[in-house]
Parts: sequence; structure tokens; C-alpha cells
Amino acid sequence: MPVLQASSRIAILGGGLMGRLLALSLARRGHAIDVYDAHGPEGDGAAARVAAAMLAPLAESAITEPGVVRMGQHGLARWPELLAQLDQPVFFQQNGTLILWHRQDAGDAQRFCGLLEKNRRINPSLPPLQHLAGEDLQTCEPALQRRFAQGVYLPDEGQLDNRQLLAALHATLARLGVGLHWGQARELGQFQPGTAGQPDWVIDCRGLGARGQWTALRGVRGEVVRIHAPEVTLQRPTRLIHPRYPIYIAPKEDHLFVIGATEIESDDMSPASVRSTLELLSAAYTVHPGFAEGRIVEVATQCRPTLPDNLPAVRWSAPRVLEVNGLYRHGFMIAPAMLDVVMQLLDGAEPQLARRFDVAIEHAQLATA
Ligand SMILES: Cc1cc2nc3c(=O)[nH]c(=O)nc-3n(C[C@H](O)[C@H](O)[C@H](O)COP(=O)(O)OP(=O)(O)OC[C@H]3O[C@@H](n4cnc5c(N)ncnc54)[C@H](O)[C@@H]3O)c2cc1C
Repeated sequence: MPVLQASSRIAILGGGLMGRLLALSLARRGHAIDVYDAHGPEGDGAAARVAAAMLAPLAESAITEPGVVRMGQHGLARWPELLAQLDQPVFFQQNGTLILWHRQDAGDAQRFCGLLEKNRRINPSLPPLQHLAGEDLQTCEPALQRRFAQGVYLPDEGQLDNRQLLAALHATLARLGVGLHWGQARELGQFQPGTAGQPDWVIDCRGLGARGQWTALRGVRGEVVRIHAPEVTLQRPTRLIHPRYPIYIAPKEDHLFVIGATEIESDDMSPASVRSTLELLSAAYTVHPGFAEGRIVEVATQCRPTLPDNLPAVRWSAPRVLEVNGLYRHGFMIAPAMLDVVMQLLDGAEPQLARRFDVAIEHAQLATA
């Protein structure tokens, strides 16, 4: 495959999470970048805008593969470096994840924790789970006020503010002179990279918007509620194990909480259902009654761009056309790793990172326009 030459012209389709991050790294290397997005700079067409942006490799190890977990560990180290390149501050914390359950769900909690312990044995660089009860749980999270008898603390896990990140990336890309073309939907077939008047390279980061091109992609619908709750002082992402309504509560700055998320096999982007909203809010209220007086700021729906194996992949559509997709429910957790994988491919280097993270590098033929 060709190697990216200095001062290349690169078109990036999709200015959600992956597109903006790639644009930042490539622009900082001196390439001339144009980003085309079907929607606006706020990310209103992006899964990235609705996400909770938790960075939780050990918690997620219960439902994903070891390579994704390793990407998550890589991401926790890389995010501070990436955020330091931005012109605006972005809330980022690495204050762990707290797992809770009600007494009647202790069996489910035991199974869940057993799975995490098993994954720690596979990957001993993950931090040990800390089982907390009584006073220790109270000290870890005073806001719980002894409503839970037991919990498990996963140290080091993180989160960031997704909307601040999208805004900071937008501002920094504009300052770097990146061509930002909002409200400009594009298809891969509209580009013939390397020919006269065309960009040298095209990188497709359209998430679910690339379905027409990458037909294996599917949407996994997620509904979240944003609540402003001044009475709630939870300090870190808190997950409730529950047989019917497993939820997380991700605290952002100024008592803003993202409560999510449903996970429904559907690419239906219509507004959140009454049932989902009731379940999310009821479950959150059982964690902290202070949510009762909170104000619902937003109820949002988006679909996670997902490939059949629920794993991310990179695909060459043509010698100078690269697609990056399938970030599913782990986009923020793994985006720095995917960024580094793609930069290594563009440099024509040995794909060591793709191997380390088990990222599939696929090849497909671009249908003629
Ligand atoms: C409810 C929910 C909760 C989540 N929580 C977390 C979490 O806690 N932690 C985590 O790590 N991840 C989380 N995620 C996953 C994360 O948001 C996604 O994996 C990530 O946003 C995918 O990034 P992307 O850049 O591939 O796609 P997106 O962020 O969806 O961006 C795709 C962009 O392409 C644009 N586009 C589409 N079609 C076109 C076109 N034809 N032309 C030009 N542009 C186009 C869109 O407008 C959009 O801006 C969550 C997702 C959801 C939905």
C-alpha cells in the first residue's frame, strides 16, 4: 500500500470522534486537511455527541475481547497527551469506576465480578478489583449514604466530557487551518484520490453513515438521559448491576449526569421510548434519591456503529482510501489506539499496533461511482 507523503492533501469524511482526532494528528504533521460532515460542528449527527465517554477497560472486559481492553489501557495513557494539544480545556478524570448492586442481585454481581477477575488473570496489567463494604464503601463514595451494603471499585478507570472534546477539537482544527465543511454529506465514490484536482488520500470515518459502503455495519441503538442534579455528588462513573435495567451514571462537571444507556439491536434513531426513559430514571433514583429533584436537560438517542463481531476494523477500499469504523460502544475508550494504528498504517510502518490490539486490517474494492 502507498505511504503518506509529506504535505499531502487529505479528505476526511465524517467529523465525529474518529474524524476529528485524525484531522488533528494529520494537520499537526503539516498535511492539508478537509473534513466533510453531513451535520453540524456540535456533532449533532455523531454517536460521539450522545455518548457517556467512559474509559473503562476493566469494566468493559465483561463484554468485549482482550484486544479492545488493551486498546482501552492504551487510551487511558494517551488521552492526556491528546487533550494537551487542544486550545480549550476538556474535563478528564481518572478516578475509577464504582460497581453497585441491590441485595437481591448479589448473584448477578458475583458472576460479573468473577468475569472481571478472570480477565485480570488473562491481562495482569489491569488493576485489581477492590471489594468494598460498610465503612470502606462509605469512604469511597460518601454520596451513597450507606444505601448499598457492598460494591466493587475499579481503580484508574476514567471518563471525559465528550461535548467539550468535540468543541475543543473543532476550535483547534479551525486554528490549524483545517477546511471544515459542515452540512456537507459525502460518499466515497465522489472521490478519485491521486487524480488531478482531487485529494491525495481519503479517510472515511462516517460511522454508521458509511453503511452504504461497508454493508456489514449495523446500528446498536442507545438512549441516554442528561440530568442536572445539584443534590447528587457522585464522584465517578457508577454502574448498577441489575437483571433488567443495568445502568451507568457518569458525572460530568457542575452536577451534570449522563444516565445510560439502553442497548437495542436496531438502527432506529427516533426519540427515546417512554419505557427506556422510565427504566433509566427509576434505576438512577434507586442509586441516589437526589435525582428526584434533578432537572432533565435532555433525552437523546443515537446508534453505535457496529461490525458483526462488535470489534473495530480498518479497511483499505483502494490504495489511498482508508476506512476506520466499528467503534461500537467503545469509541472514546479505544479512539487513541485506533488513531495510532491508522497513523502507523499511513506511515507504511509494520502494523505492530494493529497486531498488539488485534485490529483487523481488511481490504475491499470500492464500487465505481
Ligand atoms: C448512547 C451511547 C453511549 C456511548 N457511551 C460510550 C462510552 O461511555 N464510552 C465509549 O468509549 N464510547 C461510548 N459510545 C460509543 C462512541 O460514541 C462511538 O463509538 C464513537 O462515537 C464512534 O466514533 P465515529 O467517529 O466512528 O462515529 P461518530 O462519532 O458517529 O461520527 C460519525 C460522523 O460522520 C458523519 N457522517 C455520517 N454520514 C456522513 C456522510 N455521508 N458524509 C459526511 N459525514 C457523514 C456524522 O454526522 C458524524 O459526525 C457510546 C455511544 C452511544 C450511542
